[in-house]
Amino acid sequence: MPRNKKSANDTPAVTRLCFTQRVRLFFYIICIKTISTKDMKEMDPRFEIRESPGMGWGLFAREPIKQGGFIVEYTGTKIPAKVADESDSRYLFEIDEKWTIDGETQENQGRWVNHACVPNVEALGEGDRIMFYALRDIFPGEEITIDYGEEYFDEFIKPHGCKCGAEKHLK
Ligand SMILES: [Zn+2]
Repeated sequence: MPRNKKSANDTPAVTRLCFTQRVRLFFYIICIKTISTKDMKEMDPRFEIRESPGMGWGLFAREPIKQGGFIVEYTGTKIPAKVADESDSRYLFEIDEKWTIDGETQENQGRWVNHACVPNVEALGEGDRIMFYALRDIFPGEEITIDYGEEYFDEFIKPHGCKCGAEKHLK
């Protein structure tokens, strides 16, 4: 084998590291862009989507919101409860015992709202629509949260441990 021919093992460590970083950064940028172009365009300017520690993405207030103030509508496809029972979607929101909204669409800003055991927002049914309203005054920078309910909590949150930071988890 000619002595001047390089194999992959001869690649300097610095070059390899640089390549890895570039790839990671690239994915990071794509990840941010997916959210900013598709979701931020139609975004209510009072809110922003950003990372919530331990919870993935979350919806955060950019402006003060008074108690009782409208937050967002949970939009999606209205499906019969029987279809919802068979669905794998993690974004099902029950309207009543007959109907459910599948909110697994990019347009649904309500899907960014994370669970908290002591939430600052409540979901109210208005006909076949689901609206979120502030339970108390909300300050800029605060994350918007609702209580997902016992069923969802027991199935999806409890097994991993709830990270909402409520006092009851600290005991
Ligand atoms: Zn919790």
